[in-house]
Parts: sequence; structure tokens; C-alpha cells
Amino acid sequence: MMTSNRTLGIYVHIPFCLCKCLYCDFCSYTEQDGGVHSEYADAVIREIRQYAERARDYTVTSVYFGGGTPTLMPTTELSRILSAIGQSFALSPAAEITLEANPKTVDAEQMTALRQIGFNRISIGVQSLCNSELLALGRLHTAEEAIETLTLAMRHFPRVSADLMYGIPEQTAESFERTLLRTLDTGVTHLSLYGLILEEGTPLYQRRTHLTLPDEETEYAMYLRAAEILSARGFSHYEISNYAKRGKECQHNLRYWRAQEYMGFGIAAHSYFGGVRYGNGQDLSTYLKSEIFAPKVSETLSDADLRFEYIMLALRLAEGIEELDHRRRFDTDFWQTHRASLQKYVEGGYLKRENGRVFLSDAGMYIENAILADIL
Ligand code: SF4
Repeated sequence: MMTSNRTLGIYVHIPFCLCKCLYCDFCSYTEQDGGVHSEYADAVIREIRQYAERARDYTVTSVYFGGGTPTLMPTTELSRILSAIGQSFALSPAAEITLEANPKTVDAEQMTALRQIGFNRISIGVQSLCNSELLALGRLHTAEEAIETLTLAMRHFPRVSADLMYGIPEQTAESFERTLLRTLDTGVTHLSLYGLILEEGTPLYQRRTHLTLPDEETEYAMYLRAAEILSARGFSHYEISNYAKRGKECQHNLRYWRAQEYMGFGIAAHSYFGGVRYGNGQDLSTYLKSEIFAPKVSETLSDADLRFEYIMLALRLAEGIEELDHRRRFDTDFWQTHRASLQKYVEGGYLKRENGRVFLSDAGMYIENAILADIL
């Protein structure tokens, strides 16, 4: 297939998990057997084939299998989906191809097979390396199993990411720092760091009044300490929640933050293509039976929406807003338009304007929402 200058990212949602973590509001199913995996792969392949024609002129530069727990799906099924992507789209030979995994759901043999079928990056949901915190989150694995999986991943994949959390019940600044340092000792090349959010409807939310959560000040101290430690270890804080060794940034997620196009396949998957955002429904049995796929939600973005999203996403990144690019896209000057509201953040050390770019400092990233509310 010919390649072109227009690039695309592909997301595939694999909605299967061993059990539901207590804080999770992602779309995932815990009851499944081999038959469902195979049927699901068939449906995803049908959907891929249906949409591929629209992206005939695009080169796919990143593929991301997220979940759920993609490693619960047999490698043969993952391979069928990846092959369908390769056959239906112009997949760049240099594409970043990521798969999410959880400790205890993937062994050395499976990692070897995953590399062979084309995955070149793995992202592992660790969350904490303190067993009582893992228990509080309802995670199925222990700290030791997580380290084992990270160590194995480092032997098999050139790019390994770990997800960690702060703000976990009973977590202290010390236990968080221990988790971070032990994770870094495995040699991971990328780290995603999220504050725990108690989402309504989750078991953890229902128990919220009985939980001992770190207070806001402690959470902020964890966030700043992480930024300090990671910087000393050679990681750049390239996005609010993400840190990478040089050249190891997640190319797929960068597409989201740079407001570039992507197509999502599978239940609950979202897409942004041709100026339209659309997303699939969450019902597994409906999806499995579908012959023709139609988005459940779809929204054509107005100019004002596009500008809001662009600013909101760009400020998440350390590279921030390129003023020239903003003017080219929206025909207005970002700095002049928002100068009056932004000045106090510059004076407070939260925002910088240098070399034609406006970007947030570590402290500024932590309060991005407040800054956005102020200027937009
Ligand atoms: S492993 Fe991830 S997707 Fe699955 S239940 Fe836990 S948090 Fe949710």
C-alpha cells in the first residue's frame, strides 16, 4: 500500500479484565471465555475493514491496544487484529505499536510472541508497589508480581511504560516515593502518573467516607517530588501525567494532545477524523452481532470547540502552545487575546512564554484546569 503525508493513529479497545478494580469506571467485562475473545476479534476486524476505505490516503504511524486488559486476549486473536490493520491501512514500518498489560496476565512466552507479531511497546498497569495500597485499589497482583512483569518486559520490549498512582487510600509521601524509586530501578523508559479519582458509581466512591486519603497538600507534594526525582533520572515531563526518557515519548498519545486524527475500534472506542469526533457504544453483545458499525455518539466540532480543545490539549504538553501555529489555525493571537488573564500565572511561576511558545511549568500543569477556567 502507498504511504502518504497524512498520518493517523489507531486505537483498539479490548474490554476484558480478570476482575473489576475498585476504582475503575472504564468499559470492561469480567465474564468471558475463549469463544467471546474470538468473536470479539472478528467484530473488530469487520469494523476495521468498514472504516479503512475512509483513510485510504493516510499512513498509520501508531497503533495502541488499550483496555481492559489486552493481554487476556490470546495472542493469536491479537495477531489477527493486527494483521487486519496491516492489510487494511498503510501501516508505517516504523509505527509505534503499543499494548497495555497488567501484571500476572502475561508471561515470558507470551511476551516473546507479542514481539514476534509486531508489538514494540508495552504499558503496564502497576499503580503501586505497596501491597496494602494494591489491596485498597482491588488490584489482583502483588508488588512482587508487578516488579517481575516489569523486569520481564524490559527483557523483551525496547520501550516499557509503567502506570503509577498517587492519592491512594493510606498512601504516604514515603510509600509513594518508594514505589516510584523501585519502579525506576527496573529501567522503564516511560512513566504515566495519575492522581486517583473517585469516580461516581465505583465501589471505592461508595466507601469514600470510610477511606483515609492523602490530603491535597500531600498529593501535591507527591506530584512535585515525582517531577523532581524523574528529572534527576533523565526523564522529561512532557505531558501533565507523563514522563519519558529522550525519544521514548508515547507517539500515540501525543496525537491526542496535538489534536491529530485517530480512529478507534471496539466497544467504547472513540475517534477523531475529518473534523468529527465519534464514539462507539459500550454494549458487548450488540457489538458482537454488528455487521454494519455506526457510532453511538458523533459531534462535528465548531470553530470555538476546536480552539478550546486545541488550547486545553496543548497546555497539557510541556511544548505548550506554539503561537504561530495557533495564529495559523485560528487567525487570532493567543497571547494578545488572553494576556490579561495569563499575566498573573506568569508572575506566579505557573506559566512561561519563551521562543514563540506559551507553556506551563510543573506547578502550572498541576492547576491546568483552574488556569483554563480562568482564560476560556
Ligand atoms: S485492570 Fe484496568 S480496566 Fe481492568 S478493571 Fe482494573 S483498572 Fe479497570
